[in-house]
Amino acid sequence: MGRLKESSPVIPLLLLLFPLLLLHHSLTKVLGESESTRGNAQEIHCSRERSRAAWQIIQDYLTPFVTILYPKQVQAPSDNDLYRDQEQHKVHVDIYEWKCGYCRKSFNEERFLDQHFATRHYNLLNTTGTKCLADLCGALHCDFVLMSSKKGKIKCNPAAAAKNRHLCESLANTCFPVSQGPAASRLHEQFLRQFCDAHTCTGKNKPFPRGGKKKSGVFYLAVSILTLMLLPLFYLLVFLHQREKRTGTQVLRRIVKTGKKTKPS
Ligand SMILES: [Zn+2]
Repeated sequence: MGRLKESSPVIPLLLLLFPLLLLHHSLTKVLGESESTRGNAQEIHCSRERSRAAWQIIQDYLTPFVTILYPKQVQAPSDNDLYRDQEQHKVHVDIYEWKCGYCRKSFNEERFLDQHFATRHYNLLNTTGTKCLADLCGALHCDFVLMSSKKGKIKCNPAAAAKNRHLCESLANTCFPVSQGPAASRLHEQFLRQFCDAHTCTGKNKPFPRGGKKKSGVFYLAVSILTLMLLPLFYLLVFLHQREKRTGTQVLRRIVKTGKKTKPS
């Protein structure tokens, strides 16, 4: 989905109002107690980038449907994502300014803030009983999202596709059991269409056929800023060109005038 870290104020709100104790409960069941996330910073084998991608995919392509069917909103469970607290302590002040919400230190790129979290605030990671959201990446097409932002190509491996499809379907079953009524059934169906159908190598189905935020806004913003920056430059060039033309004709006129004056004598 291109950029994964847009700092729209709506996103944190959505995160807070994540309506699913049900989803929370199910994810807990699916993910189990991740052994890899125990211990200190050196022992954490949970990709921050992939966790972030998985979280964003859930926000963009699943939460909108869940909030429609479960309007009663509940506080977001954050123990499905090891990095949730740190991610929520990122302050994106400006394009080139990221601030640490714990100690207010500034960085000009998000990756430096990530490094800062990893070295300075790893003790704040709740590694006991917290899951690694990146474990769901196979089912949620994180590679599709991460690679498309890097303009790379993903080779399809039929065995991996089948494995991911299985993971995806078991996720749909545990998160939204059909037996729990019509709303859960609809979400179950929606989940299969959004995520599981695309786990094939036929290339027929693309992930996330429905929904998702429009990313074109960022593109148009960039174009507008560029235009606004280039416009004064364009006028300056036109002005300089005109002035040069004018002084050129003035000089010419002066030459003609002096030429005329000198002729009679
Ligand atoms: Zn800090």
